[in-house]
Amino acid sequence: MDKEVLKSYYKHYGIDEDVFEFGEKILDELKERFENIDRIAEINHLRVMEAFKNNRVDTECFNIATGYGYDDVGRDTLEKVYADLFHGEDALVRPQITCGTHALALALMSNLRPGDELLSPVGKPYDTLESVIGLRECKGSLKEYGITYSQVDLLPNGDFDYEGIKNAINERTKLVEIQRSKGYATRPTLSVERIGELIKFIRGLKPDVIVMVDNCYGEFVETIEPLDVGADMMVGSLIKNLGGGIAPIGGYIVGTKECIENAANRLTSPGLGKEVGASLSTIKSFYQGLFFAPNVVASALKGAIFAANIYEKLGFEVHPKAADERFDIIQAITFHKPEGLIAFCEGIQAGAPIDSYVMPEPSDMPGYESKVIMAAGAFNQGSSIELSADGPLREPYTAFFQGGITYQHAKQGILMSLQKMKEKGLVKL
Ligand SMILES: *Cc1c(COP(=O)(O)O)cnc(C)c1O
Repeated sequence: MDKEVLKSYYKHYGIDEDVFEFGEKILDELKERFENIDRIAEINHLRVMEAFKNNRVDTECFNIATGYGYDDVGRDTLEKVYADLFHGEDALVRPQITCGTHALALALMSNLRPGDELLSPVGKPYDTLESVIGLRECKGSLKEYGITYSQVDLLPNGDFDYEGIKNAINERTKLVEIQRSKGYATRPTLSVERIGELIKFIRGLKPDVIVMVDNCYGEFVETIEPLDVGADMMVGSLIKNLGGGIAPIGGYIVGTKECIENAANRLTSPGLGKEVGASLSTIKSFYQGLFFAPNVVASALKGAIFAANIYEKLGFEVHPKAADERFDIIQAITFHKPEGLIAFCEGIQAGAPIDSYVMPEPSDMPGYESKVIMAAGAFNQGSSIELSADGPLREPYTAFFQGGITYQHAKQGILMSLQKMKEKGLVKL
């Protein structure tokens, strides 16, 4: 198909010719990188297929279980698929785990006991964990149960502070939490290989410590996952990567038998563990989401790289940089003025499949001092594997951008952001 025809469709949709052409020029330079991303997706696809095959996934797995959910075959088989795929002894994959924070809190609260200490050797964890840990006073926090917390920041150059970690580990250190993605911080995202180096070092000091990896936004970006490099648990959300944009809710924990048993007894009840918890009508979407996930993650990654290249070329600061290797799907773009952040988010919203007519407005958010603008037109509320962007209205006016469940949408949404920037005179193409 002639590119001119495609251009005419974009024009009809509301993307100017110069915006389209600017994008095409960038994409021409990204062919090789995109090929590599497709290859990773293909490997991960094969891994998923093998796990489905090994565990004999069949139509019976899609039967809807209700009530207690004893013998919920779909749920039990799915948990075997997850354990097999990610090389854990067992897994907990449930709609009753309401989100990523809940999955992380569950893994922590079930595996720590009063008097134990939790260590983060990679700096401050994700914002929502502050209440879980008790860094921010909160009812039911780990702190309230007499579980202490210690933290070692990364060195200014992004390296692990091995000396600091050695000093921080003590006889009470029971669990080490390593966050793979930078989240909304400015530190680098960790590759699985680097996580492995850190685990090796920590095990050298304390062999029996439990290592948990917050795997949010990292799944399927590479072909190995944290359990492959020695972690005891990997934890994440199903409305991010592994839900493939299809799962409407849920979280997962994959890991050792003992860690999963602890988590299951906490999620349901001691004595009931994994045996109860009907998966209701969510179960097929969990399978289908996992089946789509390698391709969805590839689409989101291409979108992140496309956006980084566009905005870096236009002179904006981007993090990670356009040419950087990726270990998660998040892209930050810094505008240094509110108009830029707002126009960018307006473009992402206008380019969304849902609520495209809605104008996002900066508004107050609990826990934030400044107003926050958010763009999200998703099929699942708050789903950040779908194309979405947000940022606080303060210096340096950075938009955090992620997702895109199809490559076509990631590309078109980013072009729409550029269109809005152009219309407001914020960029010259
Ligand atoms: C999203 C995220 C979480 C929390 O997940 P929610 O589903 O928003 O509760 C935790 N850690 C990281 C690194 C994340 O990206």
